[in-house]
Amino acid sequence: TEAHLTAVEAARPLNAYTVETPEKALAMADASDARLAKGEAGPLEGIPLAIKDLFCTEGVESTAGSHILKDFKPAYESTVTANLWRDGAVMLGKVNMDEFAMGSSNMTSTYGGVVNPWRRNGSDEKLVPGGSSGGSAAAVAARCALGATGTDTGGSIRQPASFSGVVGLKPTYGRCSRWGIIAFASSLDQAGPMARSVRDCAILLRSMAGFDAKDSTSVDVAVPDFEQALTGDVRGLKVGIPKEYRVDGMPAEIDSLWQQGIDWLKAAGAEPVEISLPHTKYALPTYYIVAPAEASSNLARYDGVRYGLRVEGETLDEMYEATRGAGFGDEVKRRILIGTYVLSAGYYDAYYNKARQVRTLIARDFKAAYETVDVILTPTAPSAAFAMGANMDDPVAMYLNDVFTVPASLAGLPGISVPAGLSMDGLPLGLQLIGRAFDEETLVRTAGVLE
Ligand code: GLN
Repeated sequence: TEAHLTAVEAARPLNAYTVETPEKALAMADASDARLAKGEAGPLEGIPLAIKDLFCTEGVESTAGSHILKDFKPAYESTVTANLWRDGAVMLGKVNMDEFAMGSSNMTSTYGGVVNPWRRNGSDEKLVPGGSSGGSAAAVAARCALGATGTDTGGSIRQPASFSGVVGLKPTYGRCSRWGIIAFASSLDQAGPMARSVRDCAILLRSMAGFDAKDSTSVDVAVPDFEQALTGDVRGLKVGIPKEYRVDGMPAEIDSLWQQGIDWLKAAGAEPVEISLPHTKYALPTYYIVAPAEASSNLARYDGVRYGLRVEGETLDEMYEATRGAGFGDEVKRRILIGTYVLSAGYYDAYYNKARQVRTLIARDFKAAYETVDVILTPTAPSAAFAMGANMDDPVAMYLNDVFTVPASLAGLPGISVPAGLSMDGLPLGLQLIGRAFDEETLVRTAGVLE
């Protein structure tokens, strides 16, 4: 813990941590020592972790990267973080993220962007770590946490893992409790681990997961020992290669990384099978209707009355307006506008209801594919990390980053991103595996061969 606290301090220029909690960390580490001495060590005893600022942590600022939650200190702990502390983990602090987890660059945070520890060969240009879990990815990549929590609504664990050269696992929807995680799009939000290896992610997930009566969408299924799944044996495994993911304009280096992944799995005895997921091209527009719709509803609670910021006004309505106007950033306002539009009486059927129907078709595509294959292999993102500030005035270009990650989110399926190679200019690139619902074990087993 001490070594990591020193590393956290040294890495301050990356802007990964929003709050450092050294006193808490040392106290937790002392308690760990005491349990170790008594022979009562938990599975994560003494392991120092970074916590995404979307998780409510008791008495410690939890702001979702938003000015509107400035100084908000929850009176309770999220289930996922409570599970980690129960198993002995130590909290180093809270880490930066896109505001309310809306973004793919970490640039929408009220705390400013996070700097990716990686640079292009021969260049000093600062790059984004991806988002929205950009602080988590950078903290792990810069060795100032052994692991981190992330959340993934449409790719926010997997895409930053790919950009930062770490492993990120988005579990099946319902595997980890959403209780105490600040809501973005409730039918999509899912917590998961980010770490330096597949094994570390497997160990962390076991502690994070589990049924929780406080989350009505938590699923009561057994939590396996995911680490045991790391057998290295993928002989006979059928790996689906979806042809619709060969999108126009995919850079050659992404395509060849994908081929490399197929070849590695083949060499290990797995069988690649070309499959079709015909509704893939509708996933991005569907996501960018469903997610803002749910966000517009979830974010209605930030009204200046109950949490964080209040900007006074003459009347109650003026107070709401002034608070929300000053408290939310541009991307969050954009999502609220889109969300309220697609939910409004005249447009509900044309947009929101249509999107829900297409979402079902996307889920059915996967269901049909899993009748013939065990797991699906794709690239994680269509590019390597880009420069800080790039894509900022072009939301659609930013949204295109999620093209490979949103389908699994809409279907509620588990996905993992594994660092699998480097771009021509030396940046990490990830491959994504998508599994059957509640079959994270096959993901872990297959990812172990790719890493
Ligand atoms: N980049 C996507 C978005 O902006 C996904 C974010 C996420 O998974 N939280 O909505």
